[in-house]
Amino acid sequence: MDTKLDPSRDDLPLMANTSHILVKHYVLDLDVDFESQIIEGTIVLFFESGNRFQKQSGSTKEPCRSESNEACRFRMPEPCHSPVTDTRTFSSKTRSNDFTICGKGEKDTSGKDGNHDNWEQASGISSSKYCCDTGNHGSEDFLLVLDCCDLSVLKVEEVDVAAVPGIEKLTRSPKLTVVSEELRNQIVCELVTLPADRWREQLDYYARCSQAPGCGELLFDTDTWSLQIRKTGAQTATDFPHAIRIRYSTKPQGRSVTWTSDQSGRPCVYTMGSPINNRALFPCQEPPVAMSTWQATVRAAASFVVLMSGENSAKPTQLREGCSSWHYYVTMPMPASTFTIAVGSWTEMKPETCSSNDLAAERSLSPSEADFRYVGICGHMEYPCRFQNPSATTQEIIPHRVFAPVCLKAACQETLLQLVPPCLSAAHRVLGTHPFSRLDILIVPGNFPSLGMASPHIIFLSQSVLTGNSHLCGTRLCHEIAHAWFGLAIGARDWTEEWLSEGFATHLEDVFWAKAQQLDPHEAQEQQELKACLRWCRLQDEVRNSPEEMQVLRPNKEKTGHVSDSGSSVVKHGLNPEKVFMQVHYLKGYFLLRFLAQRLGDDTYFAFLRKFVHTFHGQLILSQDFLQMLLENIPEEKRLELSVENIFRDWLESSGIPQPLQRERQAGAECGLARQVSVEVEKWIRMNRRPRKRKRRETEQVFEKDIFWLGTAHMFPACQNVMSGRSSF
Ligand SMILES: [Zn+2]
Repeated sequence: MDTKLDPSRDDLPLMANTSHILVKHYVLDLDVDFESQIIEGTIVLFFESGNRFQKQSGSTKEPCRSESNEACRFRMPEPCHSPVTDTRTFSSKTRSNDFTICGKGEKDTSGKDGNHDNWEQASGISSSKYCCDTGNHGSEDFLLVLDCCDLSVLKVEEVDVAAVPGIEKLTRSPKLTVVSEELRNQIVCELVTLPADRWREQLDYYARCSQAPGCGELLFDTDTWSLQIRKTGAQTATDFPHAIRIRYSTKPQGRSVTWTSDQSGRPCVYTMGSPINNRALFPCQEPPVAMSTWQATVRAAASFVVLMSGENSAKPTQLREGCSSWHYYVTMPMPASTFTIAVGSWTEMKPETCSSNDLAAERSLSPSEADFRYVGICGHMEYPCRFQNPSATTQEIIPHRVFAPVCLKAACQETLLQLVPPCLSAAHRVLGTHPFSRLDILIVPGNFPSLGMASPHIIFLSQSVLTGNSHLCGTRLCHEIAHAWFGLAIGARDWTEEWLSEGFATHLEDVFWAKAQQLDPHEAQEQQELKACLRWCRLQDEVRNSPEEMQVLRPNKEKTGHVSDSGSSVVKHGLNPEKVFMQVHYLKGYFLLRFLAQRLGDDTYFAFLRKFVHTFHGQLILSQDFLQMLLENIPEEKRLELSVENIFRDWLESSGIPQPLQRERQAGAECGLARQVSVEVEKWIRMNRRPRKRKRRETEQVFEKDIFWLGTAHMFPACQNVMSGRSSF
């Protein structure tokens, strides 16, 4: 593997110059070959540049005419200020996606704060080559920088979108007589800004444009972390081609895809939530601000099933003998890092007694839900949103499919299959509208390094959750389902704030699971208190045994969310192998949210959470967006000494155990269930101390099976294949 990264550095570089140009849509066209362990094909990227990144609302879009719209152009001779620098700290009024290019009056200082130097050094690239920030003005060509590694790039070309029959409908001219770069870019500009209700037409145009002939090869260069593309004479992002096609292939050792065998011994490949995300699967803009849609056609031998982040439940199309093709798409813009694919000989698992529960259950609104049914006012950029669709908002259980190797059929039927509907329904009762229209769940191969991973429309679960009774499977499923809201529909704008997805999912998994089990309030409280005890033990262990700097949830403090002028940045410790095994973001985040819910009372807290989801779905957030809105929404008497600054200081910006948590745990009395678990743990410890050879003759120790699965198993990691449950998103 070609990696020039200095081993002493563990920061993940995000190289793409998203401040200059943004990918709005990817069209992937790929062949999966298990013999060579290579995925090969093309990706077409559709861009938007200039101040059109701003939030679109309604269908009142401005005409986009790059040749005449001066505001659309970069004034390259002037220094280009960073648009993404956070100038709205402590204000929840502004939305995450509101930013402008070359925003006048927005002075950026982040280029001097070391970020820029960091990524340059980390990537081993000389600064003269990366001149977008300071040197790429005047006579030099604009340089498109994409995040990319472990890929063989074969060809990059401009796509002649003007050659697509009927495309002139998108422009003002009845016939395309003189085809120029400006006209082609104007077509793409109109295409990427089509109103949400024309999404089918838009997808169709994207597909047809992606197959249009090339109209000139572009110069490109690759290094460890990026692919750089330029067009001679194109000096600004506005002049740069807005539709480009890259022919490339993956490498068998590429870190974004894992080639392995499933539990039935058959070959498969899947993306595994690697710290480098998807950049070894396709060249892309990694920074989360580059929210895009995608569609993909993937071909494989007919015996394989292709699962992917797509809102359609794809079925295969038979091609030539022995080969089939699968097509998926999404219409909700999301970071490219959330894209997931899995190809293998999976079998769809159906319940033994076939019920029709994967057909949408619709029902009328209960009074408690009425408060989040104010449809039609979303803060995100325009897309066909489920929150604006009355029949989607009432859908408790979204359509879903479960896939696994055939040898796990019995295990799936025993545990997983009947848990999916109650867990989905519980999530809907707590948070409201499911952000995604459907879900595939896949039991991934044995080498999957965590208990689960959530991506748009697809959840990976480890085979470990199929063992024992339903507690492990149910809680993990609830955790991954919670990521649909926290981690996917609402993403962290800065990946160092991992707690914004993991803390929420860990807190919500208990709440969903209690509802799914239909526990009465007392039982629910007992079970949740037991989980708190276990997590408390784990957090103390982790704090004792990990480097202090890695225990901080918001290590960049007020610089969180800052990027360099070009949009590049680094994710602190993003490549540190130790981080994979740490749960501090889960645990401290969980305890903070539990603390806030207790302070406010569950009813107030969860009513707020629904409101928060309604305000911020489809957007990226920083910690202060959540905390500020929370404090604004709670009555003065419940706020007490809480402030955003205090929460930052006590919970997010310090290492070790947060003081308020320390006080709470010292004062708190153990619940009954926790005492029962302690007794069980004592039994296990006694048994483990006995000499092995005498063990069988001793009186059989009676173990409480239910208590074991609820708690004891978590205290004895060896009892489970994997106990480090980590989902990367
Ligand atoms: Zn919406």
